[in-house]
Amino acid sequence: MAQYETHIPLDLPAKIQHYIDGAFVDSRDGETFEVINPVTNETYIHAAAGQAADVDTAVAAASRAFAAGTWSSALPRVRSRVLHKIADIVEERGARLAELETFDTGLPITQARSQGKRAAENFRFFADLIVAQHDHAFKVPGQQANYVNRKPIGVAGLITPWNTPFMLESWKLAPALATGNSVVLKPAEFTPLSAGLWAEIFEEAGLPTGVFNLVHGIGEQAGDALVKHPDVPLISFTGESSTGQLIFANAAPHLKGLSMELGGKSPAIVFADADLEAAVNATIFGVFSLNGERCTAGSRILVERSIYDEFVDRYAAQAKRVKVGFPHDSDTEVGALVHPEHFGKVSSYVELGKTEARLVAGGGRPEGFETGNFIQPTVFADVPPQARIFQEEIFGPVVAITPFDTEEEALELANNTKYGLAAYVWTNDLKRSHNFAQAVEAGMVWLNSNNVRDLRTPFGGVKASGLGHEGGYRSIDFYTDQQAVHINLGEVHNPVFGKAD
Ligand code: NAD
Repeated sequence: MAQYETHIPLDLPAKIQHYIDGAFVDSRDGETFEVINPVTNETYIHAAAGQAADVDTAVAAASRAFAAGTWSSALPRVRSRVLHKIADIVEERGARLAELETFDTGLPITQARSQGKRAAENFRFFADLIVAQHDHAFKVPGQQANYVNRKPIGVAGLITPWNTPFMLESWKLAPALATGNSVVLKPAEFTPLSAGLWAEIFEEAGLPTGVFNLVHGIGEQAGDALVKHPDVPLISFTGESSTGQLIFANAAPHLKGLSMELGGKSPAIVFADADLEAAVNATIFGVFSLNGERCTAGSRILVERSIYDEFVDRYAAQAKRVKVGFPHDSDTEVGALVHPEHFGKVSSYVELGKTEARLVAGGGRPEGFETGNFIQPTVFADVPPQARIFQEEIFGPVVAITPFDTEEEALELANNTKYGLAAYVWTNDLKRSHNFAQAVEAGMVWLNSNNVRDLRTPFGGVKASGLGHEGGYRSIDFYTDQQAVHINLGEVHNPVFGKAD
């Protein structure tokens, strides 16, 4: 590890604090939690552990800012300029951001760089969308005109996971702010480091004080307090399906607006007529990029029997060549998993897989990485659909390959989990690809492609993978109320009650 120590980023903050009403602050009770470096598993910093009292202060600041109207009533063009400035600054600080993100999450540096670019793009996209936004008007000639008033809702509670934290935060922050809401962000406790950058960036870009607030802490404490806060009318959550279920129940008494982006176990279906090389390359990237800690990972590969053996051989050989290394190293393709707890979970699935299927690549720690959360890209073949490694989200560099004989069987296998986030279909048969896309139970389908997303499209899952969609106009809808205004243009039409004789 000596070789690694030199790669700790310079100028790390002394501690991680909340950011409330324009100031960095500790928790009111002074409580903190430990944050660890995923390469050494040593604590490198302490973060403020927010409790209900801290969430109360943040929500009060956000509510005041909303009521003041400087941001909530600003013209779309004014908000758009600030959002573009935010995007500019995120781009300018891309190198620093990637350095911090890689250090905190264990993601390979090259992939952390693209996450920073995507975060900037999210702000630019909503900056443009908000000025181009138009709302419906409906006319009944001579009788009635109707139009829609779109209004920000108030304080949005944003709860985010630890995989690609900065990018996923941008995904919620950009539309919530673009539409004029105030926000309280609660980032994941495994990876709190990069969230503080937002405070500096927003201040520099001219976002009014109190519009953005950040409360760190444990999910069951800070997150829970945000979900149950009566003055937070909407919660956008990304995380595990089981956490989503709990949040749903906790928000029910308040009838909050909820957006749930949850877990996945997405299938990649490879038919015999597919471009095999493209399919192998894409499905390798699809499950091993971002350390496999990716909600849309194609973690089940279903392959038509006639090409099955060839596919498995090529896939296993290529998986063995995927380079595991230190996250800061620009050659690294798979870095360190985020946390020893998560490493334990992924490792236990690898051991389980050895009892459920045929191991054809990986299966443990890579040579030379005796400590830290490193795991080899691991491939299981002949995985039966009832196996737990077929059914359950592992969220690491582990893939299950299963053969099929007919299109019907492929569809049955694809739909045979509780999840329904994404699906990837590899075939050169035009009719089959579209019909399969229509039939597969997935919120998003890619045909002959890896996960490449146009920001205008809806993002979200079905079944246990989520409720509601964000992305493009769906985000604008989620973060706004649509008030219908009805104008009478003719006679007043109603029966007269209590008419004088
Ligand atoms: P998680 O559910 O453990 O935590 C997510 C966030 O919720 C964290 O900030 C956590 O502190 C908070 N939280 C936990 N318990 C809470 C509670 N009771 N009340 C309020 N907040 C609470 O998820 P994770 O392990 O951080 O992230 C990985 C999961 O996220 C995977 O299942 C992955 O598939 C999913 N994910 C989904 C998408 C998507 O868009 N569908 C994207 C990325 C990740």
